[in-house]
Amino acid sequence: MRKIIELKGISRTYGNGSQARTVLKNVDLTIAAGEIVAIIGASGSGKSTLMNIMGCLDVPDKGDYFINGQNAAHLSPDELARTRREHIGFIFQRYHLIPDLSALGNVEIPAIYANRERGSRRMYATALLGRLGLKGREHHKPSELSGGQQQRVAIARSLCMKPKIMLFDEPTSALDPEMVKEVLDTMIGLAQSGMTMLCVTHEMGFARTVADRVIFMDRGEIVEQAAPDEFFAHPKSERTRAFLSQVIH
Ligand code: ADP
Ligand code: MG
Repeated sequence: MRKIIELKGISRTYGNGSQARTVLKNVDLTIAAGEIVAIIGASGSGKSTLMNIMGCLDVPDKGDYFINGQNAAHLSPDELARTRREHIGFIFQRYHLIPDLSALGNVEIPAIYANRERGSRRMYATALLGRLGLKGREHHKPSELSGGQQQRVAIARSLCMKPKIMLFDEPTSALDPEMVKEVLDTMIGLAQSGMTMLCVTHEMGFARTVADRVIFMDRGEIVEQAAPDEFFAHPKSERTRAFLSQVIH
């Protein structure tokens, strides 16, 4: 197994003095290259904080974390930004597209920052949009696209630099129900392409049928993790069982 992400004793505290709140508590986590991981847990349990650290958008107060073998805990902000750009695609609940740019223009942005030549970046961005079912929408502005289409543009943008790791933080939570499937299908396609994927999700179907491993977080800790069959059939912790009884009917 090649470790592509490794977290050791990661803690994150917000605020200080009497206001201090530790929202990640000594988290250890190893992700293998090509692994598909679903992260579940109640709101406020620290899922986004964990994802932001793995995505090099935030830094922990304690601990070490290795992205593709490199210890990111000791990188400067510039180096972190480069690690993020070279290795990581990050998808949020909200798509964060630039409203004045076309779908194609949005997908190209990372390649523009990386000084890629115009012709090749345009060709690759066009191909990505096609691969994600957006052929014919290249010149539409975000406001002319549905939520599901906008999220797929965001996914295409995150693929523009050919990341090895894709992080999804509740990618379907802002979508109308009929659009959830098209985004999940896109993610399933990516999962099958050998990409390493971590996905915070409320879609238990995805956790059950697509993930190699399910991780349950509660109050800043990884409480339990297992392959989905085992995880859903035989949750070991009372905290896991209590959570599952709320989300599975
Ligand atoms: P989740 O994604 O599981 O809902 P988060 O990681 O977003 O959880 O948040 C975990 C806890 O940290 C929550 O109680 C939240 O209010 C708090 N928190 C998150 N971001 C900040 C911040 N920038 N400043 C202070 N508290 C924060
Ligand atoms: Mg969150």
